[in-house]
Amino acid sequence: MNNLKNLRGTVDLLPDQLIKWQNVEKIIFEQLSRASIKEIRTPILEMTELFIRGIGEGTDVVSKEMYTFLDRGERSCTLRPEGTASVVRALIQNGISSNPFQKLWYMGPMFRYERPQAGRQRQFHQLGVEFIGYESVRSDVEIISIAWDILRKLGINELNLEINTLGDPNDRLNFKKTFVDWLEINKNSLDLDSQNRINKNPLRVLDSKNAQTKKVLENAPRLFDFMSEKSLERFSTLKQQLEMLEIPYIENFNLVRGLDYYTHTAFEITSGSLGSQATVCGGGRYDNLIKQMGGPETPAIGFAIGLERLILLAGNEHAITKKTDIFIINKGLHAEVLAIKLSRKLRNYNLLIELDLTGGSFSKQFKKANKIKPRSIIVVGDDEAVRNEFVIRLFDNDTSENKEEIISFDDDIKIKKWLRSNFF
Ligand code: ATP
Ligand code: MG
Repeated sequence: MNNLKNLRGTVDLLPDQLIKWQNVEKIIFEQLSRASIKEIRTPILEMTELFIRGIGEGTDVVSKEMYTFLDRGERSCTLRPEGTASVVRALIQNGISSNPFQKLWYMGPMFRYERPQAGRQRQFHQLGVEFIGYESVRSDVEIISIAWDILRKLGINELNLEINTLGDPNDRLNFKKTFVDWLEINKNSLDLDSQNRINKNPLRVLDSKNAQTKKVLENAPRLFDFMSEKSLERFSTLKQQLEMLEIPYIENFNLVRGLDYYTHTAFEITSGSLGSQATVCGGGRYDNLIKQMGGPETPAIGFAIGLERLILLAGNEHAITKKTDIFIINKGLHAEVLAIKLSRKLRNYNLLIELDLTGGSFSKQFKKANKIKPRSIIVVGDDEAVRNEFVIRLFDNDTSENKEEIISFDDDIKIKKWLRSNFF
């Protein structure tokens, strides 16, 4: 039989790598809960139609990146490629009008059929934050600052915040006509992908990574010049408030983001150290999505951070393992039972306990202790175990220096005393 392998674009996260993931996630969770943002979990599998309606047919995600299949009941299902559409569906389905203001976050795997490379996988993870019901510029600033602070809290410097405004649907409609005419005239100078987008999703041409197309676009009409007074004013307030918070930004008029439902503020946070997959966070306002998906008119803004890229950026100080507090060496019929009882009891003190389960000789278990270097060790042999006792001492390679103590399993006072004087 051939060796079984994981699918292309998916990865196993092994225990040593997960230490960094878990430490990073812990800092993120703390930041989110301090901002009173609550978690929401939606299914990984949804009806395909949700993403067609919620993301838009002309987008790359829907037209070429989705994992779509028929289930046994012939329903078209899709592994979620992003989180916002599902969150919106869940809110509408559960009665958004009874709770029109919500600050939510989600974290989990997303699936896109893309060419795998560093920082780009077919199964990847996103942290998303969505502010539902909020319309003010202040909510844009607050959500940008939340993304910014998560990255900073993780010790990631050298970040660029890029912002743009996409205006309201009316601004875009006015621009679209002029822009499509211009694109038609310049069609032959554009790359194939961009040519195909002219009719499907012309705004996305602005987002092209193709060097030749980028050059041609320098002379294109600018969306910014089609903004209404109101949209311009909103954007300038946003900039003012970011300046007041000392969050540095760069204006990028070509930043349109892939998904159709964005309005007004769009933003991305990039880092030069990520190479060509430079965007770690992308977000924006989507005031029309909830209505478009069958809910009441509700403004909203959100962002998503790619966790694989975040982990690449986060320093290795997050990858440090917590030291084992007590390693329990045990051998013998009675000893092994007492050792299990001990490990259960000591875990109640919020200590990191490792019980040796190999059944190897005492000398082998001591060797293991030397390797993991716990703060202290407990030794249980049958002689001690029949007396319901164990030996505990601080771990040090030089054993003669260590004071050893024999403690009875039931002597909680003595156990606490020992822990207090040596650990806490
Ligand atoms: P890109 O231009 O890199 O394809 P995108 O615009 O498709 O990004 P979004 O839909 O905005 O990405 O998703 C938000 C974030 O999720 C991205 O900024 C990125 O960090 C991460 N991300 C998106 N696709 C992938 C992927 N295939 N593998 C790993 N991370 C991804
Ligand atoms: Mg993409």
